[in-house]
Amino acid sequence: MSETDDLRERVALACRVLGTLNLTKAATGHVSARLPGTNRVFIRARGPGELGVRYTTAAEVIEVDLEGRAIGAPPGLLAPSEVYIHTSLYRARPEVNGVVHIHPKTVVLFTITKQPLLPLYGGFDPPGLKLALEDIPTYDRSVTITTPALGADFAKAMGTKPVCLMRGHGITAANGSVEEAALDAIDLNDLATVNYEARLLGDPQPISEEDIAYFRARTDTGRYTDGGDGRPGERAVAVWRYYTKLVSG
Ligand SMILES: [Zn+2]
Repeated sequence: MSETDDLRERVALACRVLGTLNLTKAATGHVSARLPGTNRVFIRARGPGELGVRYTTAAEVIEVDLEGRAIGAPPGLLAPSEVYIHTSLYRARPEVNGVVHIHPKTVVLFTITKQPLLPLYGGFDPPGLKLALEDIPTYDRSVTITTPALGADFAKAMGTKPVCLMRGHGITAANGSVEEAALDAIDLNDLATVNYEARLLGDPQPISEEDIAYFRARTDTGRYTDGGDGRPGERAVAVWRYYTKLVSG
């Protein structure tokens, strides 16, 4: 399989995982990957021929340039209107080779209520805790990112962070590989779900400073940030294997 065909498969798989986990609704959302060291980006297409995020196939992953223009897309498939989320991040962050933009409802609730995502757990999900400690930014506009100028505005708000909330809209995750960006999106959704359910049950309390320091000091656990060659690191590969199995039966 060629390198670009492999990348299309990996983008489609990440879409199917996020769709199967109900992290986004029907056709809303898109995932992309960059061929490392190039300006070639492969992204889930939109258009009358699409099946929806959960059922994305490699044939529905099209190439775009850093201007957001589709290159050689088959009839019925177009670059997503929000392609500029992806192209702006690839322009601004050379270390990023994977971007996920989805609309997970539980996370969006936090952008609406302005409730904080507290570090409520440690051993339950150490990578999720590390994400909670990241000072997750929020893009305060709820418009769709349909122009290069809005894309640049959004990328500025996200800065160098792994994930960004988008008020009344969704989330974006960016990492060294598409799999790691998807895992960050999954961890962010879990963080929001636990925060939400804890608030329903009572008065959630962050874990102690001592325990936060313990997890900060550990190097064998934490976020998935291998990157570099556009492929997931060892720990991410192991976790991703589970999600690959989940969508392949
Ligand atoms: Zn969106």
